[in-house]
Amino acid sequence: MRIANIDNRAALVIGDEGAERGVDLARASQGRFGPELPAVYQVWGDVTTWVSEQDLAALADDGFPIDRSLLGAPSPAPRQVFAVGLNYHAHAAESGFESPTHLPPVFTKYASSFTGPDTDVIIPAGGNVDWEVELVAVIGREASGIGEADAWAHIAGLTVGQDISERVSQLRGPAPQFGLGKSFSGFSPQGPWLVTPDEFANPDDLELGCTVDGDQVQKGRTRDLIFPVSKLIAALSHTVTLYPGDVVFTGTPAGVGVGRDPQRFLQAGEKLDSWIEGIGQLHQRFVADPHAK
Ligand code: ZN
Repeated sequence: MRIANIDNRAALVIGDEGAERGVDLARASQGRFGPELPAVYQVWGDVTTWVSEQDLAALADDGFPIDRSLLGAPSPAPRQVFAVGLNYHAHAAESGFESPTHLPPVFTKYASSFTGPDTDVIIPAGGNVDWEVELVAVIGREASGIGEADAWAHIAGLTVGQDISERVSQLRGPAPQFGLGKSFSGFSPQGPWLVTPDEFANPDDLELGCTVDGDQVQKGRTRDLIFPVSKLIAALSHTVTLYPGDVVFTGTPAGVGVGRDPQRFLQAGEKLDSWIEGIGQLHQRFVADPHAK
C-alpha cells in the first residue's frame, strides 16, 4: 500500500508509475480515518487492515489524478525526527571518520524544514549547500525497548528523503551544529509518498541515488547500511520511545559534495533529482537567497 499527503489530506495511491491515482482516505472510509496524516498514523494498524479489505480498482475509479505540486511530506508533523550520520562505510570514510560500531551519531532535523517532493530550495547567503539522499522510515506503532526481529512490524513504511545540509554552519565549531545546519527552510524534502514494507521484494536492499543537473553524484544500496533499518529502530527504541508518525532519516551513501576533491556544492539554478527503487523521486531546484547582500 502507498499513502500520500495530498494538500494536507491522506490519500491512497493506486496505479502504475506515471498513472497513479489518489483516493482520499477520509472520504473513502466515510470519515473513519484521517483526514490528515498524523491522525492516520495513530491508528495505522486499523488503516492497513481496512485497506486490505477494499477493492482498490473500484476505489481508483472514484479517484483523481495526482497533482505532484500538492504533495507534502508523508508524515508532516511528527513528534520526533531522527537523523543518522555515518551509516555507510564509504560515506564515513569520505567524511574522515571511523565507521560506527556501537551506534551511529544521531541528531535531528527540525520539522519546520519538511516539504513535499517537488520544491524550490533557497541557498542561504554564504552557504555551502550539499546533498544527502536517504531512505526515510516512518514509525507506525509505538516502540520502546524492542528487538531487531520486531522492528519492521513497528514501521509504517518507507519514503525518499533528502538530508540537505549547509556545511559552513554545520561544521563551523566550536562543536558541530548538525540540527541547525540541516534545518534551513525546505532542507528536508520527502516523498513522493509512503510505501509499506510488504510492497518490496526485500525492503533491506533498495537502490538509492541522486543527480545534480543530470550528473550522477550518489548511488548506493541500502543493504550496505552499517545499521540496517531494523537494527537502527531497535537501537533507538532502547533510549527513546518511538511514536507513530515519527520520522527516521537513515543516513546517506558516499558521494556528497563535501567529501569530493575538489569539493562541490549546489549553485543557484542547479537541479537535484533523487530516487529510491520502488518508491519514487524527489525534484529540487536551487535558487539564490533573495535577501542576500
Ligand atoms: Zn544525512
